[in-house]
Amino acid sequence: MNNNGKANTDKHKVKALVLFSGGLDSLIALKLIKDSGIELLALNFVSPFCRCNRSDGCSAVMQLKNLDVEFKLIRLAEEYLEIVKKPKFGYGSNMNPCIDCRVLMFKKAKAVMQEVGASFLITGEVLGQRPMSQQKRQFGLIEKEAEVEGLVFRPLSAKLLPQTLAEKEGWLKDNVLLNLSGRIRSPQIKMAKELGVNDYPCPSGGCLLTDIGFSRRLRDLIKHSRFTLDEVELLKIGRHFRLNDKLKLIVGRDEKENNRLLDIAQKRYACFIPCDVKGPVAIASGLNGEVELDQLCVSIVARYCDRNKEAKVKVEKRNIVKGGSVITAEVPASEELIEKFRI
Ligand code: SF4
Repeated sequence: MNNNGKANTDKHKVKALVLFSGGLDSLIALKLIKDSGIELLALNFVSPFCRCNRSDGCSAVMQLKNLDVEFKLIRLAEEYLEIVKKPKFGYGSNMNPCIDCRVLMFKKAKAVMQEVGASFLITGEVLGQRPMSQQKRQFGLIEKEAEVEGLVFRPLSAKLLPQTLAEKEGWLKDNVLLNLSGRIRSPQIKMAKELGVNDYPCPSGGCLLTDIGFSRRLRDLIKHSRFTLDEVELLKIGRHFRLNDKLKLIVGRDEKENNRLLDIAQKRYACFIPCDVKGPVAIASGLNGEVELDQLCVSIVARYCDRNKEAKVKVEKRNIVKGGSVITAEVPASEELIEKFRI
C-alpha cells in the first residue's frame, strides 16, 4: 500500500508484511510466502504479557535472523494496558482480550504498510483454531475495526476464506493456498518437516493473559492497585498474597526472584528477609504499621523458610524510610491460612 492508501500493483515489487509470533503457524505462513518470491517484512509484536519478554525480542527474533528475513519489533505498552483493562469486545476464557488485541496489531501493521509501501498482510491464523478470534465472523469483524478489510491473507486456511486482494491480483502461487481448519496440529507439524522447519520453540501459549493463575493476579491488581507496566512486571514473579484491600505480599520462589525483589524493595516497598535460616525475600505494599499485619506477613515468610518443623523464625523487616526491625514468627502460617490469602 502506498501513502495514498492504494495497493502497489507492480508484480515485481509486491511487498507484504507478515505478522510473526514465532509460533509454528506463523512460521509456516512465512516460509510458504517467502519461497514464493514475495518481498517480506516480518512484524513481531511484544506485549507486556509475553512470556518470553526479553529486551531483544523473543525466540521469534532468533528465528527471523536464521531465516534471513527483514523484521521490525513493535512494543505494545500503555495503550495495550488500556485494552486489557476495558476491552471493547470482551475477554476470552481468561483475561485475554483477543479481538481487541488483534485489532490493535492490525492497526499498527496498517501504519507500517503505508510507511514501507507494502500491499498486503499475512498471518498464520487458522480458521477455527481459537474460539474467540479465529472464526470467520471474527476475522471479518477484526479487519473491519482495523480498516484492513480484504488485505489480510491467511495462507493456512485461504481456500476456506473469502478471496483477498493478493489472490484477486494474482500475486500468489496456488501452492500457498491451503485448507487447514480446527485445532489439530498434525498437518502443520508434517508441513514443517517438509519445509525444513525443525525448531519452533515458542509455539503457542506465549501470552500470559490466557493463563488462569496469571489472570487471577491481574484481576486483583486492576481491582486494588495502580495498573502500570511496573506492576504488571511484578505479577510475573513470586507467590502473591492479598491480605486486605490495601496490603499485598509477594514472596520470592528462588534466588533469582529474591534478588529481584530486594532490588524492587529499594523503591517503595517494605521487605522481609529471614535472619538465621535460608528462606525467601518478600515485599509488601500497603503496610500501615499495625503489628498484627507485620506478624501475618512474617508468618507467611516463615512458612517458606528451611526450618525444623516447630522452630520459630526471626525475620527482619526493612523499610527504606523507617529502617529495620526484627520480628519473630512464633508459628509459621498454616496451609489453610496460605490458601485463604493466596491470589
Ligand atoms: S492470546 Fe494474547 S497475544 Fe494472542 S490474540 Fe489473545 S490477547 Fe492477543
